[in-house]
Amino acid sequence: MKKFVCQICKRKYEAQYRPIHRTCGALECLEKKAMKEVEKQRKKEASKKRKEKQRFKEQDRSFWKKKAIAAFNAYIRERDKYLPCISCGVTYGQFHAGHYRPAGRNEGLRFNTYNVNKQCAQCNNVKSGNLTEYRIGLIKKYGLEKVEELEANNEIVKFDIDYYKRIAQIFKRKTEITRGFK
Ligand SMILES: [Zn+2]
Ligand SMILES: [Zn+2]
Repeated sequence: MKKFVCQICKRKYEAQYRPIHRTCGALECLEKKAMKEVEKQRKKEASKKRKEKQRFKEQDRSFWKKKAIAAFNAYIRERDKYLPCISCGVTYGQFHAGHYRPAGRNEGLRFNTYNVNKQCAQCNNVKSGNLTEYRIGLIKKYGLEKVEELEANNEIVKFDIDYYKRIAQIFKRKTEITRGFK
């Protein structure tokens, strides 16, 4: 006879071989062990499903596009942290990363750091970008030449997953550097 420790009640018991259920054999311990096994299996399956879902997501272009946009916008917010709204100059309230030329119609300018600046929610949403004032603010910030360059840029692009991944990486890093991390 050998000595074993019950996995459930932790009492020592003797047996010839280690039982498959790894318990002392008391009904209560057997039941608890069975419940544990069921729960373990359930968790395993849930985790497998989660991982599959994640893998599927990562093959999806729109998933990485969202990641890239989030990283880019976070960088703009960090870069312009101490600046007022590019259009109206307010310094308080809710702020967005506002596009001068809308990204939907100028995909090539979506991740252009001159084209996107801190803008108050009022100008960004309610005043549809407040573009006349935005232009004045842009010229003050970057100079007329840069603004005209932006206005002449009609590059047609189609980004792929790798590009979005790279954008997400680059701007995550730029945000860290701007924030002062190494
Ligand atoms: Zn037991
Ligand atoms: Zn504003």
